Amino acid sequence: MTENNTANRETMGFQTEVKQLLQLMIHSLYSNREIFLRELVSNASDACDKLRFEALHNDRLFENDSDLKIRISYDKAARTLAISDNGIGMSRDEVINNLGTIAKSGTREFFTKLSGDQQKDANLIGQFGVGFYSAFIVADKVAVTTRRAGEQADQGVHWESDGGGEFTIEMVDKAARGTDITLHLRADQDDLLSGHKLRSIIHKYSDHIVQPIVMKKEEWKENGQVITDEDETVNQASALWARARNEITGDEYKAFYKHVGHDYEDPLAWIHARVEGRQEYTQLLYIPARAPFDLYDRSARHGIKLYVRRVFIMDDAEQLLPNYLRFVRGVVDSSDLPLNVSREILQESKDIEAIRKGCTNKVLSLLEDLAANEQEKYAGFWGEFGQVLKEGAAEDFANKDRIAGLLRFASTHADTDAAIVSLADYIARMKEGQDKIYYITAETFNAAKNSPHLEVFRKKGIEVLLLSDRVDEWVVSSLTGFDGKQLVSVAKGGLDLGKLEDEAEKQEQEKQASDHKELTEKIRKTLGKRVKEVRVTHRLTDSPACLVADEHDIGGNMARMLKAAGQQMPTTLPILEINPTHPVVLRLKDEQKHFDDWAAVLFDQALLAEGGQLDDPAGFVKRVNQLMLEMRAG
Ligand code: ADP
Repeated sequence: MTENNTANRETMGFQTEVKQLLQLMIHSLYSNREIFLRELVSNASDACDKLRFEALHNDRLFENDSDLKIRISYDKAARTLAISDNGIGMSRDEVINNLGTIAKSGTREFFTKLSGDQQKDANLIGQFGVGFYSAFIVADKVAVTTRRAGEQADQGVHWESDGGGEFTIEMVDKAARGTDITLHLRADQDDLLSGHKLRSIIHKYSDHIVQPIVMKKEEWKENGQVITDEDETVNQASALWARARNEITGDEYKAFYKHVGHDYEDPLAWIHARVEGRQEYTQLLYIPARAPFDLYDRSARHGIKLYVRRVFIMDDAEQLLPNYLRFVRGVVDSSDLPLNVSREILQESKDIEAIRKGCTNKVLSLLEDLAANEQEKYAGFWGEFGQVLKEGAAEDFANKDRIAGLLRFASTHADTDAAIVSLADYIARMKEGQDKIYYITAETFNAAKNSPHLEVFRKKGIEVLLLSDRVDEWVVSSLTGFDGKQLVSVAKGGLDLGKLEDEAEKQEQEKQASDHKELTEKIRKTLGKRVKEVRVTHRLTDSPACLVADEHDIGGNMARMLKAAGQQMPTTLPILEINPTHPVVLRLKDEQKHFDDWAAVLFDQALLAEGGQLDDPAGFVKRVNQLMLEMRAG
């Protein structure tokens, strides 16, 4: 930030990201320009909430005026629009930080995602939350005058900018606490200078705001319309969640979501309930339609708003929901908690635990309901938040089965990489005699789909779940079964297909194993410390060899992931399995001269096929070339 002192007035530069955001917003949100009012009213409302909360501990902050409200007015001659509140206000430092920078984590990453395509970028900006800067969609100059509650009248701050690269800031006198925002409208925005127009925008977007939004009453007289001195409240001004469900319209629920969720799109679904019993509280919880850009950012704020008997207590109360439901937005209003509840208290409170349990339960029910009755919506949900919900299968022991029921996977049954198969679908399609749910984990969908480990399953028409998300390894390590059926990796342990194989097949396998005893022993000696064991398999039909992990060892994919994450772990050796009917293996039986090279290539290609990295890639290339030349010679 550059500073340029001239007496009391200073000119400062916006943070680079703010400049970018301003440009983008003005262009891509123009067709949605009315949202500026929703955003500014929403900020004013938050400011009133914050004041009410801080005043619980310090009555002085009210400055003898506890009648919190938001005022909207316009001046046709000056072509300005003003939004004022008597909320918490801002100090000079707060103005500079809040209106000159974007404090959100992940801002830089957000900008790298922008494509230049207006429609797409508009959606992204919506997820980012447009906030205060949306004023510049309709205004070519914005002035903010504010004073923090409890400060002297001369501690007012005036901020002004034309939305270019800079803003000015100076100290001014401001008698009334709170914030006034004045928009100098762009040339083509005159239609906003109308009481009727403004009232209709307020009804559309801000009816649910808890504080009264007041405007001067307008009347028709002989000489046209006059604005009287009398105030009138133009919004409903009651806490939406405290009203009865059947008295709230879908549009009201959606508008409220945009306020609490800081989102620009409609929510996917919501649940509104009043819970009575040992703990009494109201919950209004929303599932967004789209994941925010910082869903995986550990430092990102998440959680829901906590109120106690309609008094706002805190934003982002993350204790009210488990981490794997961090995408949920909304409000919990408790009737029992003390008003002075702090984050520290929340962490240990038994009451909060009960509320958290109740909220988790409700969200899972909502998802179950979507999955059963609105599959398209559920597919949309899964695409956005499936990865996060999967964390729950590993984290939430009490709800493991319910979460397992909500999981969706790709599978060999479908032709696409879309995750659409539920465990219940899988079980319903199981072959006669099948008693296990088979899966494979790999780094990518293609690596999973084309893995040699699937060959025998393909041949027998047995479905295998294809897991290629990073979190999947954790899912299957904690989710050992579903509905009484064990989950089994096709790349671990000996392959026991149980009743899916007949007696003749089993006898044939035993015979192959003993016939090849000498060969497997010889390969094992050659490969030495690279393998735990070498054995004959009936897993393969087309490939000569594959690697499997021993029953209780860490699988290859998991081991690679842990290594990539920099984790120390004991080295576990893989088992090399060879296909006794493959021509390469048959040929190897008679090989004398280059046996060692053949064995090494067999091992290396099995490692490559499952996405592993060769210890000595150059050595592998050399051996393959040698073998190619031999073939030609022979
Ligand atoms: P967001 O509301 O998503 O944090 P904004 O850009 O809308 O982002 O606002 C940035 C910050 O400026 C707010 O978090 C708040 O601290 C402050 N702010 C904005 N408007 C007001 C207001 N009317 N009164 C007090 N503070 C405000």
